[in-house]
Amino acid sequence: MAKETIKKPRGTNDILPGGEVEKWQYVENTIRKIAANYAYREIRTPIFEHTELFERGVGETTDIVGKEMYTFKDRSGRSITLRPEGTAPVMRAYLENSLFSLSKPIKLYYIGQMFRYERAQSGRYRQFNQFGVEAIGVHSADMDAEVIAIAVEVLEKLGLKNLEIHINSLGCPKCRVEFKEKLKSYIKPNLDDYCPDCKERFDKNPLRIMDCKNDKCKELSSDAPAILEHLCSECEDFFDQLKQNLDVLNINYIVDKNLVRGLDYYTHTAFEIMVCGNFKSAIGGGGRYNGLAEMYGGEPAPSVGFALGLERVLLALESQNVEIPVPEGIDVFVATADLGANVEAVKLLAYVRQKGYKADKDYANRSLKAQMKYANKLKARYVVIIGEDELKNNKLIVKNMQTGEQLEIDKNKLLEVIGGKLNER
Ligand code: AMP
Repeated sequence: MAKETIKKPRGTNDILPGGEVEKWQYVENTIRKIAANYAYREIRTPIFEHTELFERGVGETTDIVGKEMYTFKDRSGRSITLRPEGTAPVMRAYLENSLFSLSKPIKLYYIGQMFRYERAQSGRYRQFNQFGVEAIGVHSADMDAEVIAIAVEVLEKLGLKNLEIHINSLGCPKCRVEFKEKLKSYIKPNLDDYCPDCKERFDKNPLRIMDCKNDKCKELSSDAPAILEHLCSECEDFFDQLKQNLDVLNINYIVDKNLVRGLDYYTHTAFEIMVCGNFKSAIGGGGRYNGLAEMYGGEPAPSVGFALGLERVLLALESQNVEIPVPEGIDVFVATADLGANVEAVKLLAYVRQKGYKADKDYANRSLKAQMKYANKLKARYVVIIGEDELKNNKLIVKNMQTGEQLEIDKNKLLEVIGGKLNER
């Protein structure tokens, strides 16, 4: 009996060559270029971390920590979690590697896989990729505006339209103390009607109730007081400066007093980037997290960052029919008209590759006719044919696959004939 084939786990994706991985590479290259322009440097942290990192930083009352983490015991019994987000690991790396001794701000970015056990559907996966930036070490509204500007520039450079930037302020611990009490007195009379999660959040983190996805809870909280209307004067000034900076940068935004981000560590600025139109989705979000370093036992390090979901960025680009340039084909295919020419083909192939051309040959003993067909499939611009006569006379046959023109040339003239293409790539 035939063995059953093995399928990929639910909520994961294969990113295949031939049009798809090339789009990812284009998006990643665009990101790297823009991040470098803003003077952010790349950081790569482990795919898995100690579970406690997320419990302490992201917060036990969040969906991520409560329901979505891929957590397991390793062989020595330690609790390990596949990273569900990038900020906590970056902050850990910042503290562990004493990056605080560098001049501030420390401006970092990452591109990488994240893992969340969520209900998989289009645009929601269990393994997905985020581009994120973290600017660590300064409390400045300029920094918050810069971070938002990077996200917007990446999305606009990629060609995305219909973006909406929602911003809010979540205040600081000082304004939150008073606000939490206000919120609790609003919720308390109806607490029995909230979902079990919210009941638990009521004492631990009532702000989180505003971010519940449950329709009943949303309805019950629809008239709840908003923290934006209860900011202390410093937080109010900070939010005003942010808006001013965004105006200067010509970034349109919507002040959304109901925006509460799903993670515990945010303070002050919170923002979300939505794409509207037939594909409507949140594609990124972020905010300021001034207290996180201390939650990990470090010195205070006020910080701001965001993450964009790259699968959603690609889905949004597709829905808006944005063409992503996908490089196709190879420069040279080395064909042999005679079995004896194979060694020469291997040599020639190594030579053209070394000169910087994309080049390939046949590895499956095809006839010359089949090699020409194969070269066509590979979208080769030139085919170089080596046969017995060519071997003897130090000649090559070069066929231009676009025009069909075929020439016999001296071997040492090859680069001259195919040369023009190198710089065009
Ligand atoms: P978050 O870290 O939850 O603020 O998410 C930031 C962005 O990551 C979101 O706006 C999405 O674009 C993306 N994202 C979050 N969760 C998922 C997921 N399960 N699948 C795909 N993208 C996701």
